[in-house]
Amino acid sequence: MRKDLIAGNWKMNASHLDAIQMVQKLSYRLDPSDHARVDVVVAPPFTALRSAQTVIETDHLLILLGAQNCHWEESGAFTGEVSAEMLKKLSVSYVIVGHSERRHVFGEVDEDVNRKVKAVLAHGMTPIMCVGETEDQREQGLTETLVADQVRRGLRGLAADDVAGLVIAYEPVWAIGTGKTSSVDDAAEVAGLVRATVSGDFGDAADSVRILYGGSVNPGNIAGFMAKRDIDGALVGGASLDPDTFASVVRYWV
Ligand code: PEP
Repeated sequence: MRKDLIAGNWKMNASHLDAIQMVQKLSYRLDPSDHARVDVVVAPPFTALRSAQTVIETDHLLILLGAQNCHWEESGAFTGEVSAEMLKKLSVSYVIVGHSERRHVFGEVDEDVNRKVKAVLAHGMTPIMCVGETEDQREQGLTETLVADQVRRGLRGLAADDVAGLVIAYEPVWAIGTGKTSSVDDAAEVAGLVRATVSGDFGDAADSVRILYGGSVNPGNIAGFMAKRDIDGALVGGASLDPDTFASVVRYWV
């Protein structure tokens, strides 16, 4: 049994003061029974993590804390970077790794993603490793090869036990922040391919990996994705910034 997971990626939005309000409002809109059914994660910018952590711990909220990126080294001369160890000390549970904006705007490659996945695991947190094709790649019929390569390279050198706890987000780049979504069937097909690729390298561990869909998810389309066997949740950008809207995504069955 894989527990559903719905993660909000706030990207470069929300000050630390905004974050306190957003986390509190979201928590008011969710019941303990929602958390029993779905792991609810919010990933604020680094500057808001401490405030979000404080409100979650002080108010005993069931919302889980995520970060949007990390560096693979423990410490050192890496101006502007934040290590996995630093995130762990802020009670971060999930770290988004290899988001398409990191890959396409900041030039991250699969080898970087692989190092980050290992660093996150080494500190007892769960990577949410993102994969997905651009519009050009889709039009050229490269989706399957590209996504399978991203999965294999991102997970290279991991132990099956570590892979079993992973989260992989399939996010077609052309669907992120554009209002265009993949069809439910296409998303399910690629999610199935992701699971089969993991299974090819790590056997039964693939059954436990949670696979998310991401790309313009909103309260009106989430249920369709969640109905698919290989889709275990969603990574949500724009629709996670408004707590009411995000709560409706989380409670997709209502
Ligand atoms: C994302 O940032 O991962 C994302 C899927 O964004 P949006 O939901 O806005 O498309």
